Amino acid sequence: MAKSKRKLEMNAGKCIACGVCEGECPVDAICLEGDVPVIDYELCTGCGQCVEVCPTDCLFFEGEEEAEAAAPPQSAEEVAPEVEAGLTELVSAVPVAFAKDQGVWIYIEQSDGDVHPVSWELLGKGRELADALGCELAAMVLGEDVDDVAVATGHYGADKAYVIDDPLLGQYRTHPFAEGCLKLVRKYEPEIVLIGATTLGRDLAGAIATDLHTGLTADCTGLVIDEQARLLRQTRPAFGGNIMATILCKEHRPQMSTVRPRVMEALAPDETRQVEIVRETLEVSEEDIGVAVEDFRPDADLDKPNLQYAEIICAGGRGLGSPKGFELMKELAEALGGVMGASRATVDAGWISHDYQVGQTGYTVRPRLYIAAGISGAIQHRVGMQTADTIIAINSDPEANIFQIADYGIVGDLYEVVPELIKQAKEGNLKEKLLGDGD
Ligand SMILES: Cc1cc2nc3c(=O)[nH]c(=O)nc-3n(C[C@H](O)[C@H](O)[C@H](O)COP(=O)(O)OP(=O)(O)OC[C@H]3O[C@@H](n4cnc5c(N)ncnc54)[C@H](O)[C@@H]3O)c2cc1C
Repeated sequence: MAKSKRKLEMNAGKCIACGVCEGECPVDAICLEGDVPVIDYELCTGCGQCVEVCPTDCLFFEGEEEAEAAAPPQSAEEVAPEVEAGLTELVSAVPVAFAKDQGVWIYIEQSDGDVHPVSWELLGKGRELADALGCELAAMVLGEDVDDVAVATGHYGADKAYVIDDPLLGQYRTHPFAEGCLKLVRKYEPEIVLIGATTLGRDLAGAIATDLHTGLTADCTGLVIDEQARLLRQTRPAFGGNIMATILCKEHRPQMSTVRPRVMEALAPDETRQVEIVRETLEVSEEDIGVAVEDFRPDADLDKPNLQYAEIICAGGRGLGSPKGFELMKELAEALGGVMGASRATVDAGWISHDYQVGQTGYTVRPRLYIAAGISGAIQHRVGMQTADTIIAINSDPEANIFQIADYGIVGDLYEVVPELIKQAKEGNLKEKLLGDGD
């Protein structure tokens, strides 16, 4: 039963647009419009369920904010139990507090001088965190012939680049890269280290965190600074994605997180921006490594869709009715010069491979245009695509949740609507109209 009606308020500056409040509200009184939750006071009963689940505490009741702000910082018990349970016991015997304890560091993932875009995205987020802490933003650049990469980190927001340039770092191997990072971290003692949640990043982050006896929060979807406690609030889905947990690393340094590609936004590069370069050497020999790379075949050789960095995605859901429906979505994607995407329901049904899945347990995407056909708009799907510039939803149910975040909604049978879009894309300038840029 609803409690007596209290007035819900929101601190929009803290909101990370995770959509958890919207999914939790029993009377649909909160809905995300773009990145901002909008409260419908007519519907709100003041039950407080949204306040309880909000991972960044941006929702509160009128008159209750000050009381909470004055409360002591969170205790360790408030940290997500499944993460803390084993970890506290494991690491509390070896507390590590850095004397310098300053600087936000981003690991720059590169291969033959090509930087993975997630590193630029993390520099964008890192800039915001470093500014909130009043400290420097630094890049960790390891590789062979990486001077250009180091210079480019300045264009994307870094104040400083710590560089280890060595032929042993020509291709990724865990041991020399981890040793190089550990040397830098131990010498300069950053407060925060962020690494892309790529295959390489996951491998490296685990190796470094283990050696430093510090915590590592994987796949964060939100990172904000708690300025009062000077701690990084690391938010990520937990318990199979049913709640968002905010995790603190209070007693060990550095605070470490991995973040999936496309979750954060890169700054526009500014080529006039300079970075201070600090060079260090790698104290590892080939004999120490024990692993040799015989051959390297990049993913690009495989016939996989590049969903994460696609400009246009045409995604199909269970409303397609059968796997054959994806032939139609493929035709639309090709006509628009985009790629196909899918909801988990279709992947679970075996209609399409997981390589196409968008959402919490699939890819996070940020295209200029996302067309969702026959997708209901469950929160787990929306968290993976809601930052698309333009969302077009096609659904026969006018009440479908996907319409809450769509810029354009078409209520109708996708088997009537999609063929018409394909026709217009092939014969006219539908792509240009939808992207609104005439290119
Ligand atoms: C831990 C966890 C993680 C998850 N991760 C993901 C994830 O990464 N990605 C994800 O997508 N889901 C994920 N899910 C599942 C999610 O909760 C939904 O079940 C799923 O997104 C639903 O897929 P859907 O929209 O295709 O199907 P449905 O919810 O069944 O929706 C089908 C829609 O099609 C419409 N429709 C039917 N026929 C037509 C027609 N002819 N024309 C137009 N519209 C039509 C219907 O009105 C309906 O809205 C996760 C769930 C959990 C619990």
